[in-house]
Amino acid sequence: MHLSLTQFYPSKLVRWLKREKCACFHCGDTMRVDKAVTLHFAGQDRLLCCYGCHAILHTVQKNNLVDTYLSAKAGQEISSA
Ligand SMILES: [Zn+2]
Repeated sequence: MHLSLTQFYPSKLVRWLKREKCACFHCGDTMRVDKAVTLHFAGQDRLLCCYGCHAILHTVQKNNLVDTYLSAKAGQEISSA
């Protein structure tokens, strides 16, 4: 009889066991998903590597600079490609 991991362990532990990786929304650093800090930014939940990046995005939102931030980010991605 076959049983998957999720039937024995909560999904959070399964994610830890798999050590899923993702990139920080702000700085692009690779981090483990289970260590990520979440912030609702520009209409979506974003995964961040640390509270430093969290503080930056929080400040951007607080000062109504979301559009400026996103266009600067898009510009960076184009120029680095
Ligand atoms: Zn970061």
